[in-house]
Amino acid sequence: MKAAVVHSFDKPLVIEDVATPVAGPGEVLVKIETSGLCHTDIHAAHGDWPVKPNLPFIPGHEGVGIVVARGAGVTRVKEGDRVAIPWLGYACGECDYCTSGWETLCEKQQNTGYSVNGAYAEFAKAHAAYVGIVPADVDSFAAAPLTCAGVTTYKAIKVSGARSSDLVAIFGVGGLGHMALQYAKIAGCTVVAVDLTDDKLQMAKKLGADYVVNASRTDPVEEIKKLGGANVAIALAVAPKAFDQAYRSLRRKGTLVFVALPADNHVQLPIFETVLNGITIVGSIVGTRVDLAEVFELHAAGRTQVLLEKRSLDDVNKSIEDLEKGRVNGRLVFDLMASPVLSKGPVAAMATR
Ligand code: NAD
Ligand code: ZN
Ligand code: ZN
Repeated sequence: MKAAVVHSFDKPLVIEDVATPVAGPGEVLVKIETSGLCHTDIHAAHGDWPVKPNLPFIPGHEGVGIVVARGAGVTRVKEGDRVAIPWLGYACGECDYCTSGWETLCEKQQNTGYSVNGAYAEFAKAHAAYVGIVPADVDSFAAAPLTCAGVTTYKAIKVSGARSSDLVAIFGVGGLGHMALQYAKIAGCTVVAVDLTDDKLQMAKKLGADYVVNASRTDPVEEIKKLGGANVAIALAVAPKAFDQAYRSLRRKGTLVFVALPADNHVQLPIFETVLNGITIVGSIVGTRVDLAEVFELHAAGRTQVLLEKRSLDDVNKSIEDLEKGRVNGRLVFDLMASPVLSKGPVAAMATR
């Protein structure tokens, strides 16, 4: 099969022929229709984080496709079902975290496109118990971004405790952020979106943001303070500076949710102000299978929009460069259904179903 493979943390990915995986016990083989490009895949390919993937590997944890084979013991899904392969590729199902609704914290978890091969390929294998079941009325291309960008930000809004009277500041309206602002609106909140380009902020307004701030020319802390300060700030920008600004934009009793994972791993926060202002800081990692099912349900009900642009997997390196340079609105998704020829250029599509 054709796959995009990371061989080195400082070299481009290589499109090559590799052996098609075989579904083992409890696993399914999925013919990939489409796979989203999450910024995490770039961190993986660059070896940005303290725990690095083993080389070589195939990235991609927003894979959507059709089950074509089942390993022994699989009953949850069958051949022909459409499934989504998320970051949480496997968890033990037995530990305190797994049994208390926190499978995303399982210490035995495997991560798709990181500790195990992912979906930048014509086929991928996955643990049947951990795939998402894509409802018939959710388009595959929309399902891909929902499988990480959607579920991660849906969960971040959940753990923030945001309520209808709250002002929620979304720092970074990229792949994750354009979904985050919609989940905050669904929760009834007032939303202020912060990013660095007017293009992205215009998109944020179209998707429901009440206020936008271009942090490349205006201080978002000042602007958000003028609005009374944020009850909740969600840090989705790949820059510690944005975490610092998100923190300072909070009003008393505010909550800051850490979601982005920049290579530069540290931000300095004051103890005194955190204590006296009663600030909560919480880390949030993807979401559970139930969260993903809820995300699909909301989309099927027409309550979210996914802004996406289709690319050929052949253009993986150019796509990574475009995302890194902030030139992408919404999410890039690789179209594995198109014949494997050079892409004819970007096609923007607003998918509602
Ligand atoms: P993205 O590149 O699509 O979006 C990032 C956005 O932040 C861009 O729009 C960019 O313009 C903006 N930005 C950059 N610097 C900024 C600044 N100083 N101020 C305001 N905006 C700024 O990336 P993405 O796919 O949305 O992922 C974002 C981050 O979240 C990545 O670090 C990724 O690894 C991480 N992530 C975390 C989880 C999790 O479970 N915690 C899940 C998925 C992704
Ligand atoms: Zn992701
Ligand atoms: Zn576990």
